[in-house]
Amino acid sequence: MFDSVMIANRGEIALRVVRACRTLGLTSIAIHSEADSGTRAVALADRALCIGPAAAAKSYLSIDHILAAAKLTQAQSIHPGYGFLSENADFAEAVEKAGLTFIGPPSHVIRLMGDKVSAKQAMQAAGVPCVVGSEGALSGDADEARAIARSIGYPVIVKAAGGGGGRGMRVVQSESELMDAIALTREEAARAFGNPALYIEKFLQHPRHVEIQVLADSHGNAVWLGARDCSLQRRNQKLVEESPAVGIAPEEIQKLGEQCARACLEIGYRGAGTFEFLYEDGHFAFIEMNTRVQVEHPVTEMVTGIDIVREQIEVARGKPLSFTQSDVVPHGHAIECRINAEDPRSFTPSPGEVTRWIVPGGPGIRVESHMHAGATVSPHYDSLVAKLIAHGSTRQEAMARMRTALAEFEVQGIHTTIALHRALMEEPGVTEGGFDIHHLERCLAAGFTPKEQA
Ligand code: ADP
Repeated sequence: MFDSVMIANRGEIALRVVRACRTLGLTSIAIHSEADSGTRAVALADRALCIGPAAAAKSYLSIDHILAAAKLTQAQSIHPGYGFLSENADFAEAVEKAGLTFIGPPSHVIRLMGDKVSAKQAMQAAGVPCVVGSEGALSGDADEARAIARSIGYPVIVKAAGGGGGRGMRVVQSESELMDAIALTREEAARAFGNPALYIEKFLQHPRHVEIQVLADSHGNAVWLGARDCSLQRRNQKLVEESPAVGIAPEEIQKLGEQCARACLEIGYRGAGTFEFLYEDGHFAFIEMNTRVQVEHPVTEMVTGIDIVREQIEVARGKPLSFTQSDVVPHGHAIECRINAEDPRSFTPSPGEVTRWIVPGGPGIRVESHMHAGATVSPHYDSLVAKLIAHGSTRQEAMARMRTALAEFEVQGIHTTIALHRALMEEPGVTEGGFDIHHLERCLAAGFTPKEQA
């Protein structure tokens, strides 16, 4: 059983893992780029080591540098956080081969779920509802592709098996566009993901994004921790998440949750994970699994009282989950706003030095952030500077607390999306809940914009 954890990440998630290690009495080792030497995770970790320059390819994405650092510091395990190498099966395998514990599922499970064609096949076999689509990857035969798309019914979406980050997919409205779309997506997929395999799915026009959080150990236990609704998105990036999902019957979520937990056992899953679904006309359809902790995990922690990162680390240490499914009793409602260092109207990144940083507080308020006055937002990495989470006994109370907290949050030196979130928390569609994934884009196209100065 390991007692030291190297964190192959940065920002708020590195800090979140450092805190979990401290709470568990484990030694935390932060690795960082030259740009991040003054960050909170580096300051608070028991040990820290610089592994390369600011460019992520030579630091946070360098498997060689990370493994060399693990050897040097005698780290026994690696927590990958989210993003960077967290879903890279080659990295997980290299960590396993170096004799360390990868805090996540076994590398072969990451590989299975990282390929969207094999993931979908595994989920179908496990009885999880999937989007109607081709059986496996397209063979390359044009007549066959046309026949598949016709039987699914237009519009369809052509997707890369190795796709990610919202890339490698193309919506096709009619048969005349199909073959061009396949050729373009195949070329893009080969170039960007090194895997030209494609598949076709029904394109759902007004879905909500609803996901199920799971946790599994190595003792045959898998549990689900309720659903999150992450439909408030811009360019496939989530801005606001909440739990539970408004207007979906708890029995429906329970049925889906049980299917996900069973699927975990069938694929040999271990650790924290998320099954992502599109929800339309009362039906759930699996799109992909994230085999890591997610940005939005705190909303689930707030409603269930379960420390997901702690459980994730403990099951990697070989312990059984500290609770059973019947102990999971959600309370109230939680909402998270992702606060980015961006102009709240143009969404242009706004790196630089933070000169004033006053965070909100009060009942039900949680702030996950690595920022403080005097800290610098680097232009090299993603622009997330804080996650503001509000919990209340009802959705209304959580929203009221969120509005109060957003009004208190003061940041100067950089632009942030706080003003956008203040406006969103007053927007009628958002306050009502249950909107689809295009809601924000529709609002923005109709001229929705924060009134206050950025
Ligand atoms: P990625 O791994 O790139 O995030 P996903 O498969 O999760 O890819 O899809 C990303 C987003 O693309 C979804 O959240 C949804 O907005 C859209 N999308 C994917 N598949 C479909 C589909 N079949 N119908 C409608 N929208 C889809």
